[in-house]
Amino acid sequence: MNITENITTPVVGEYDVIVVGGGTAGSVAGIASAREGARTLVIERENYLGGMWTGGLVNPVFDHRGKDGILAELIKEHKRLGSWGGFINSCFSYENMKRILEDKLLEAGGEVLFGATFSRLIMEGKRAVGVVVECRGGRRAYLAKEIIDCTGDAEAVASAGFPFEIGRESDHLCQAITLMFTIGNVEFMQNTCNDLREMVEEALKSEDNGYRLPYSRPYIIQIPDSRTAVVQLTHMRGYDPLSPEDMSKALIEGRKQAYEVVEFLKKRVERFRDIELLETAPLLGIRESRRIVGEYTLTKEDCIEGHRFDDEVTTAAFGIDIHNPLDDSQQCYSVKRYGIPLRCLIPKGSEGLFVAGRSISGTSEAMASYRVTGNCAAMGEYIGRYAARLAAGSPRGRSQGL
Ligand SMILES: Cc1cc2nc3c(=O)[nH]c(=O)nc-3n(C[C@H](O)[C@H](O)[C@H](O)COP(=O)(O)OP(=O)(O)OC[C@H]3O[C@@H](n4cnc5c(N)ncnc54)[C@H](O)[C@@H]3O)c2cc1C
Repeated sequence: MNITENITTPVVGEYDVIVVGGGTAGSVAGIASAREGARTLVIERENYLGGMWTGGLVNPVFDHRGKDGILAELIKEHKRLGSWGGFINSCFSYENMKRILEDKLLEAGGEVLFGATFSRLIMEGKRAVGVVVECRGGRRAYLAKEIIDCTGDAEAVASAGFPFEIGRESDHLCQAITLMFTIGNVEFMQNTCNDLREMVEEALKSEDNGYRLPYSRPYIIQIPDSRTAVVQLTHMRGYDPLSPEDMSKALIEGRKQAYEVVEFLKKRVERFRDIELLETAPLLGIRESRRIVGEYTLTKEDCIEGHRFDDEVTTAAFGIDIHNPLDDSQQCYSVKRYGIPLRCLIPKGSEGLFVAGRSISGTSEAMASYRVTGNCAAMGEYIGRYAARLAAGSPRGRSQGL
C-alpha cells in the first residue's frame, strides 16, 4: 500500500552551499566552504559534528600523514589541548573533536542545523537546487546554489534518482559492520594491541568455554587519555546497510557482542580484570553502503599501481582492507600512493551536486582503501572550497577543479 501525501513545505533558508551530513568529510567541507566566504549550512542528523570520528568512536586517524590544510589544523589544535597521541600517535579525544570542528565551522561563519534529517533533494531538471529536511518543527526546505552530499550513504544522490552501486560486484554484499566501544581502567603497556591478541588466543585455548570472538583480529586502541581504550572487536555480518530493520538488529547484536566481549576479557585475561565498559558507540560503524556512479570510477588497480590524475583532490596510501561480509576472513592489499580525481566526486549527469567521503565513485575494493578518515576529510576540504567558488560565480567548469 502506498500513501500519497500532498504537503506544502516552507522554504526557510537560502544558502550558497549546503553540506548534507556533518561527519568526517562534511564537517571539513563546511569549514572550507565557509572560509571562502560562502553562506554555508551543514545539515546533520545527530547532535554533533564529526560522524564516525565522534559518534562512531573511530580512532586513529589513518592517512593523515603528508596532508596539510584543515586536517593538519585539527591535529594541531588537538595537540594544543593535549588530546592527541595514543595508538600509533594518531588518536584524539572524541569530545575535543566535536568542539574543535564546531568552533572552526562557526568561526568561519558557517551554520549548522543539528537533529535535522535530510529526506530529499529539490531538483530543477538535472540541477539540485535545495534540500528537504525533517527536524524539530516539522518538514522544511532550504535552497542552495551548490549541494555536497557527505552522508556516507549517498542519501542525496540516491534521493534524486542518480545511479549508485552497492557492495561487492559479485553479490552486492557489504563489508562487516562494527559497533565500536570504549573501556576504562586499561593498563597499557607497549604493544597492547598485539599483546591483546596473544592473550585472547591463550584464554580461548585454555578453557573449554565454547565462546567464540566475533572477530579474530581485534584492536584495542589507546586514546590520549591513557587509561581509556576504544575496541574494534564486534562484527555483524550479512546485514543490509540500507534496511532500517537490519540496522536495528545489527545495533542490538553489536551491543550484545560488546557486553559479552568485556565480560570475557574481565574473566579470562588477567591484565583486563578491572576494565569496565564505558560506552558503546552512538553510531553504528558501517564500512560500506552506496557508492555513487561518478564521472570516473576509481579501481583496485588504480590503488595498487599508484595511479595519479591531473584533477586529483587528494592522495591516499592506506592499504585495501576488506572485512568479509559473511565470515571472519579479511583481504588486505598494499597500495602505492594514488590520487583521487575530482571526477569521482561528481555524480554522473548531475548539476549543482557533489559528493565527498566514503560514498564517492569507486569500486568496492578501492573504497576499502580511501574510506579512512584522513582521506574523507581531505576530500571534504577540497570540495567545500570548490563548491563555494562555483557558487560565487567562478568561471571554472564543474570538472575543472580549483
Ligand atoms: C568500524 C569502523 C572502524 C573504522 N576505523 C577507522 C580507523 O581506525 N581510522 C580511520 O581513519 N578510518 C576508520 N574507518 C573508516 C572511516 O571512519 C569512515 O569511512 C569515514 O569516517 C567515512 O566518512 P564520511 O564523511 O563519508 O561519513 P561519516 O563520518 O559517517 O559522516 C556521515 C554523516 O552524515 C550524517 N547523515 C547521514 N545521513 C543523514 C541524513 N539523512 N540527514 C542528515 N545527516 C545524515 C551522519 O550522521 C554523519 O554525521 C572505520 C570505519 C568503521 C565503520
